[in-house]
Amino acid sequence: MAVSRSELASRAYDAIVVGSGISGGWAAKELTEKGLKTLVLEAGPPIVPARDYAEHVPAYALTYRGFANRRALNREQPVQSQTGACDEWASKFFVNDRENPYSYDPKAPFAWIRGRHVGGRSIMWGRQVYRWSDLDFEANAKENIAVDWPIRYADIAPWYSYVEKFIGVSGQAEGLAHLPDGEFLPPMQLNCAEMHVRDAMTKRWRGERVLTVGRCAVLTRPHLGRAPCHYCGPCHRGCITHSYFSSVGSTLPAASATGRLTLRPNSVVAEVMYDERTDRATGVRAVDAETLAPLEFRARVIFLCASALESARILLNSKTSRFPTGLANSSGELGRNVMDHVFGAGASGTLPGMENRKTFGNRPNGVYVPRFRNATENHPDFLRGYGFQGGGGRSSWLRGMRTPGFGAAFKDSLLSELGPWEMDFGGFGECLPRPDNFVALHPTLKDKWGIPALHVQCTFGPNERAILKDMRVTAAEILEAAGAKDIKTSDDELPPGLCIHEMGTARMGRDPRTSVLNGWNQSHDVPNLFVTDGACMTSSGNQNPSITYMALTARACDYVVGRLKRGEI
Ligand SMILES: Cc1cc2nc3c(=O)[nH]c(=O)nc-3n(C[C@H](O)[C@H](O)[C@H](O)COP(=O)(O)OP(=O)(O)OC[C@H]3O[C@@H](n4cnc5c(N)ncnc54)[C@H](O)[C@@H]3O)c2cc1C
Ligand code: SF4
Repeated sequence: MAVSRSELASRAYDAIVVGSGISGGWAAKELTEKGLKTLVLEAGPPIVPARDYAEHVPAYALTYRGFANRRALNREQPVQSQTGACDEWASKFFVNDRENPYSYDPKAPFAWIRGRHVGGRSIMWGRQVYRWSDLDFEANAKENIAVDWPIRYADIAPWYSYVEKFIGVSGQAEGLAHLPDGEFLPPMQLNCAEMHVRDAMTKRWRGERVLTVGRCAVLTRPHLGRAPCHYCGPCHRGCITHSYFSSVGSTLPAASATGRLTLRPNSVVAEVMYDERTDRATGVRAVDAETLAPLEFRARVIFLCASALESARILLNSKTSRFPTGLANSSGELGRNVMDHVFGAGASGTLPGMENRKTFGNRPNGVYVPRFRNATENHPDFLRGYGFQGGGGRSSWLRGMRTPGFGAAFKDSLLSELGPWEMDFGGFGECLPRPDNFVALHPTLKDKWGIPALHVQCTFGPNERAILKDMRVTAAEILEAAGAKDIKTSDDELPPGLCIHEMGTARMGRDPRTSVLNGWNQSHDVPNLFVTDGACMTSSGNQNPSITYMALTARACDYVVGRLKRGEI
């Protein structure tokens, strides 16, 4: 359906933001607060917290009592249900895999876990937020891998602070050079098992291996009109009190309050329009998700925040005679260097004693052991490193599934007594950027809206596998040092994607010949085009990445508004 000229004119904005998830919400807030009339196009439907959030719904109120309709999950969400968060309460926050297909070599599976609704994955995310340091930003240059980051910690540090002050991050300052402290709200408390392990680690490793409570975007006191967390626990189902950071609860309301935000849900962006004469992006073409009507919107600047692979897909699908392999792809790097964190290895054990102690409430957070490999000394087997996430707690009646016993007395004992203290650690390791890990448009496969789907080629290499092996060994060492019994280890290699930290498809760099974006998340080729989601990442670090996307987005918005005011874009 053709769109008339007058309709187009009435749809002209200062800025278009594609996607309303973690990075899109930040772009919307920053651009509107800085005076830009901003259109946010979101592929999925609106979210109404009072209707959609389910953190307080008990299992007995659900049709499948919390065990989910396995047949429906296997049919509609075989990829999404690989993550535990896609349960009977929250499967509605994950995409329908049949409507959103992609392909991969069956010998090299990739688990692409996505949400398609206002707020994106900011609703289901685990809320762990850790700053990067120059150990991360300098690694590529020092090891001559891929390309150098065009920024250093000093460039992003003020923006980490800016973001933390708004989203609210609870955490403990530890003074570690390679995991810089932030603007923390009071930390959540460690339980006695975690304190015991922390103290044992201090005794054995004297600061080389450290345990701290997770740094998480969950409020421990009232913050900017949001209530502190009441420790109900299952945050991936939503949070009616907005006690954890989400776009729906924080950035989008802030953007809306300016009066300059237009949020259009159910708008699936297919491509960015480009004018060769002016060398500028002019707007986007989209499809109405409900009516399938074609749409066009124009703006002075375009921010792609649709998530790392989706933003690459939009650009790959935006071919012009100057950019026959995808818009802004003169370097040929668009779609390449896909990364995720390697995980699946760690250890668990029981801690004897402390049977008179128990926890209260459901703390929505665990513990964190920051990277200790290749921080001060070089490891012989691998580059970079990993951090551990995990936690301690007393086992519940569910331990009956792995405890020998039968009969009424056995069942009563499971219900009336808590089991021993247990502690577990799982590693999150850095993945190196490689050009042969890439996404490309599939020649025939299309999604429900007729947009070409992606083919994803991504495998972990020897460095990631060596990291995985080491995680298993060191997690067990830590538990042994704490006197744990019955230690069990694992080093399963889970498919890339499943850590849900996919990134790297439009990397930042100094040289337009080898990178897609410059140090301001701006396309080297098309000056009014910005990509600020995980696509921009030049390496992966080992920290959960979303706070870095938020800080880079806020920084890019500040830059673009300055350039627009000076008439430079
Ligand atoms: C269970 C789970 C736990 C996680 N835990 C953590 C954690 O502890 N810490 C951490 O840092 N990260 C975590 N993550 C990852 C985190 O959620 C992502 O890194 C983050 O959401 C990425 O932000 P984004 O804005 O790029 O993408 P998203 O938040 O996914 O938002 C992208 C948005 O773009 C929309 N969109 C996509 N394509 C189009 C299109 N063509 N047109 C219009 N709109 C489009 C989508 O519908 C979506 O709303 C977790 C994720 C999950 C699912
Ligand atoms: S545990 Fe806290 S942050 Fe999570 S849903 Fe409950 S109140 Fe919200």
